[in-house]
Amino acid sequence: MSAHDNLKGITLIIGRDPDKGKLKVYADLTAAGIDKKGPLFFGTDGSVPPTVSRCLAPQGSGHCSIEYLGDNKIKVTNLKDANATYVNGTPTITRVADLNARIDLGADRYPANLQSITEKLSTFFPKVINIDHLKDVWDEYNEQRDSIAKRQRTLNILVSSIGIFSLGAGFLSRIWEPAIWLMVVGLAIGIAGVIMRVTDKSNQQTKELQQYMEDNYVCPQCGQYFQGWSFNVLSKKPKCPYCGATFESKHHPRH
Ligand SMILES: [Zn+2]
Repeated sequence: MSAHDNLKGITLIIGRDPDKGKLKVYADLTAAGIDKKGPLFFGTDGSVPPTVSRCLAPQGSGHCSIEYLGDNKIKVTNLKDANATYVNGTPTITRVADLNARIDLGADRYPANLQSITEKLSTFFPKVINIDHLKDVWDEYNEQRDSIAKRQRTLNILVSSIGIFSLGAGFLSRIWEPAIWLMVVGLAIGIAGVIMRVTDKSNQQTKELQQYMEDNYVCPQCGQYFQGWSFNVLSKKPKCPYCGATFESKHHPRH
């Protein structure tokens, strides 16, 4: 599939705008499922010479038509016998050419820039964006979050259990003297636990993780943060709720 295949089947009527002398391109995109039909204008007032026939579409005809055939091909058709239409410098009645062909209109060989016309038309189509990389971001976030939570849990258990351990060893040492060493060891572990908890970087890491999400778990098109949506929920959405770009994901293929 090539970049502009969504234009396949669309035919443009091209000519001089009768009012302002710009290039007028009449396009009807409804056949491609886009609710848009009407004229597009290119160039400045009076920039198109009178040797280019007027574009009177949709009521009337124009200088030439260009149909998008898909696979980066177009069909150029000269619409009036008295006209001259050139494709890559060759006078043309009707001709299939590449999408990047040079189209000149009229005896003065006015260059119709098909590339900029095609680009302009493409802006009416919703952009398709792949969001597969966001699964990696989501998975990384959860892995980091779990590891922080696990470490905090371990430290809490260490610190809270040590008091009971030392107390028990203290009582035990009254009847069995070597238990005093258990108390000493218990206290040492307890102190180590407290120091570890005081110097623990969990809060800082949680903040950094949040920042990482805000910077990376975002729409590749508009950059908005997908706050509160797991990747599973996100990949089931048909499009970005912020910019309308169509989502594409191998994790939830749509047919
Ligand atoms: Zn977006």
